[in-house]
Amino acid sequence: MLRTHTCGELRPAHIGQLVTLSGWVQTIRDKGGLVWIDLRDRYGLTQLIMQEGVTDPAVLAAARTLGREFVVQTSGQVIERQAKNDKIPTGHIEVRVAQLTVLNPAKLPPFLIDDETDGGDDLRMRYRYLDLRRNVVRHNLELRHRMAKATRDYLDGQRFIEVETPVLIKSTPEGARDFVVPSRMNPGQFYALPQSPQTFKQLLMVSGFDRYFQIVKCFRDEDLRADRQPEFTQIDCEMSFVTQEDILNTFEGLVKYLFKTIKGLEMSDFPRMTYADAMRLYGNDKPDLRFGMTFGELNALAQGKGFSVFDSAELVVGIAAPGCAEYTRKQIDELTEFVKRPQIGAKGLVYVQYKTDGTFKSSVDKFYSPEDLLQWAVQLNAQPGDLMLVLAGPAGATRKALSELRLEMGNRLGLRDKNVYKPLWVLDFPLVEWGEEESRWFAMHHPFTSPKPEDVPLLATDPGAVRANAYDLVLNGVEVGGGSIRIHNREVQAQMFRLLGFTDEEARYQFGFLLDAFEYGAPPHGGIAFGFDRLCSLFGGAETIRDFIAFPKNNSGRDVMIDSPSLINPKQLDELNIAVKPGVAQ
Ligand code: ASP
Repeated sequence: MLRTHTCGELRPAHIGQLVTLSGWVQTIRDKGGLVWIDLRDRYGLTQLIMQEGVTDPAVLAAARTLGREFVVQTSGQVIERQAKNDKIPTGHIEVRVAQLTVLNPAKLPPFLIDDETDGGDDLRMRYRYLDLRRNVVRHNLELRHRMAKATRDYLDGQRFIEVETPVLIKSTPEGARDFVVPSRMNPGQFYALPQSPQTFKQLLMVSGFDRYFQIVKCFRDEDLRADRQPEFTQIDCEMSFVTQEDILNTFEGLVKYLFKTIKGLEMSDFPRMTYADAMRLYGNDKPDLRFGMTFGELNALAQGKGFSVFDSAELVVGIAAPGCAEYTRKQIDELTEFVKRPQIGAKGLVYVQYKTDGTFKSSVDKFYSPEDLLQWAVQLNAQPGDLMLVLAGPAGATRKALSELRLEMGNRLGLRDKNVYKPLWVLDFPLVEWGEEESRWFAMHHPFTSPKPEDVPLLATDPGAVRANAYDLVLNGVEVGGGSIRIHNREVQAQMFRLLGFTDEEARYQFGFLLDAFEYGAPPHGGIAFGFDRLCSLFGGAETIRDFIAFPKNNSGRDVMIDSPSLINPKQLDELNIAVKPGVAQ
């Protein structure tokens, strides 16, 4: 081996030993006849020292030609350091260099390979292999590795087995577009890359595997939203002979185990909330429970007092921002601007300052007496000193806008601490939702999700009211996992496809294999999948999942390092039976 120790290993106990290290030159300092080099590898930094009159002049001369990021091998004796550095584990020793070999010189890197780098996002992504040398980025991937290992340990302990499912498949609908791969051997035909292994894991249940999991790449060709990756990783799981309760317990166990082993945190039991309550109280199916500010509906109190904006609104709803009664005009204007942004879409914002002396000052004083506003305060759970913020309009859009405002207030008030973890199970999602544009029902989770047995009669009369046996795990306002108890009966599955607008022929063409399998003894089953990248980023306390993916794509879905996607040559296109648009490929 080209080393006896790593650059993070040597301690005072090694003093006197002859060692060989290999690594990258982090820094060189050359001062008054003394030359120091910080040598870096994955494990840490070790200081090397050379001195005129002591070190072989040829070695000293070689050291003076080194540049940052040169790859070198060195041998020498471990000695005690004069000026000790308590900030790094190797800070009490240094290596007196006897031999120095350049294993490979390096060009000057385009940005600093340091915790604080001067490299912008684009540059770091173009030279991702250099970015990955930085401790902060490497630590993220180390965390990811430990999360994957702990996941495997836990699930293995619960008798799950990891099975690989194919990547070249047929469409599996998870609500996005498929990435497709043309088949050379079957002209005009295409594989789809899995949006998830959903149908395969269900088939594995039919095969009797009972408890399956896979840490698996999934592919979704979605319009780019912030912090989405076209390929991402799931912890995908499925179990047979279980109820929803069994699934929730098993996977709450997994997440608790991860918190315990990775972060040393003992989590208490996760609270649960129905979808209906989440929407009513937070305007959001993934509420951030790190702070309160739940919604209060004001229709009964605020309508019929002559304020036409409220009178004509389907919903009048508000929150109380704690301690914000003294917000200035400017701060309130900022909030008004915030809710009026096109992404949020509210028409305006009504505020009520509930002063500490119990008086009120509001933008609607003309219409409401202090007694009226006191009733609002009761409804919104506002205390003296709080600021009530009220929106009105169509119910769905208004809830959504208030939810954004609530999160904004949470940010402003510093209530969204990334070191505080608040998990939540959201239950009883609707089975289907109506797509206005397409005028048809869409599966809210996916078409394999079963309705609650007691709601089955509604399938024919009021599909929108049918609740599904579906659940999401939410962590700090982020959906980290979701799943359902599946349909395992061929007839119910066929009925579901019909509800979703498939003709029997279409359903047969696309999912005939699954319908057939359900006729050969399909056990009751259900499962869940976690977004692994997202889970890692939450555990790592970072905002973006990109930091936890070794080679991520940018916001336009491009890998700027390998420059992909890219054109392919006409011969390849020809073989694939794909017509070339004139002027597209060279
Ligand atoms: N396949 C689902 C998804 O990717 C998860 C599940 O239902 O198990 O969201």
